[in-house]
Amino acid sequence: MISFTYEYKLKPTKKQIKDLEMCLDICRAVYNWNHRERKDWIQSRKSPINRCSIVQEYVIPADKPFPNYNIQANNLTQAKKQYPHLAQVHSQVLQSTLKRLEQAWDDFFKVESRGFPKFKNQNRFRSFVYPQIKRSNLAVRPRAADRRKGTRTKTKDTKIRLPKIGWLRIRKSRQYPTGMTPKQLRIVRKATGYFAQIIFVSTESVPDILPGETSLGLDAGISSFVASSRGELIKTPEFVLKAARKLKSLQRRLKNKIKGSNNWLKLQKKIARLHFKVANRREDWLYKLAHHFCSITDNIFVEDINFKSWQKGLFGKQIGNSAIGKFINQILPFIAWKTGVYYEKVDKDFTSQECPNCGLSTGKKNLSQRVHNCQYCGVTLDRDVAAAKVIENRGIVAVGQPVNFKNACGDRGAGIEQLTLFDLVTGL
Ligand SMILES: [Zn+2]
Repeated sequence: MISFTYEYKLKPTKKQIKDLEMCLDICRAVYNWNHRERKDWIQSRKSPINRCSIVQEYVIPADKPFPNYNIQANNLTQAKKQYPHLAQVHSQVLQSTLKRLEQAWDDFFKVESRGFPKFKNQNRFRSFVYPQIKRSNLAVRPRAADRRKGTRTKTKDTKIRLPKIGWLRIRKSRQYPTGMTPKQLRIVRKATGYFAQIIFVSTESVPDILPGETSLGLDAGISSFVASSRGELIKTPEFVLKAARKLKSLQRRLKNKIKGSNNWLKLQKKIARLHFKVANRREDWLYKLAHHFCSITDNIFVEDINFKSWQKGLFGKQIGNSAIGKFINQILPFIAWKTGVYYEKVDKDFTSQECPNCGLSTGKKNLSQRVHNCQYCGVTLDRDVAAAKVIENRGIVAVGQPVNFKNACGDRGAGIEQLTLFDLVTGL
């Protein structure tokens, strides 16, 4: 099943802004309350069996089960009787808020790099989800009287209907995809306003993309943003860096202002808007870069890296630059899928040590060493390009094509006719 997320800017009235904010507030309260309940349960199980702790003691009966999603969702239904204001928010929205909490807890236990879930303040809680929406939520049907008369028979789709809130105008920046059904709707508050993110799904199955003839290896570089096996060293463009630098300087200025003062708030807003701009610029550039790589090759291979642990300094390259992780793990596979390019991750170990030309290990390089110089075959390459080439070679092996390593004497292959997988596929 494929899914696409389409984002539209909302144009709410003042009254609707109030409603959206109220929705966010109630969801946040539900999130925090249930987080507290989970935390207290955990705390109550920490005390030693034969004595009380000096600081504090949580007493929760021993037979009370851990408040998981099912229990909390049940309690929520009960709570609505006691707290009628909860009913102002659509029930599925509240449930999806509890699911989100459950996800945060699950991730904490299962995903190594995740931290313990936080209580959310207004700035940290910016979205809520309608998990099930229909086509009828996305288009105003003409009134019955108009339908009978035959006038205004066209449906208008410049509004969306949020249950319990009503019809909201949107800026219809692109048409809805045809042949797909809307599934989920998320409302997000960003620095520049409110947005609706609609997930459309298609149940049609798409044939898997098969590896083609030409290959490209990509490596997240040290001196460059990303390096390709064809010798391209791509740097983050100046216009992205410039905006990022401006952001830094504004953030420095924030320190001189009194927290919570008018000027502080003004600057805070300015920073939030600039953040948005930097992110947009960078993303636009990343998509264009992905299209560039996909247009020059049939197969793309990247190294399989957990970028979260990487950022923590495990590998020491491009520390703090999360864009590379997004590029390699999200944008590139998506564009590859869209344009019919084969994408695969390969083993990342020792990519900087292996020689792409002869396949021998040339030993460890330290970070300042920018050139790959092979002592066995004498090849000299930029280290990032060399690593990208190693990745390409590994990818080619992974999809079952032979790699032409030069042996120490410089001969290519050993006279065997080498069929590529592409030949095999097209020869059938
Ligand atoms: Zn070599």
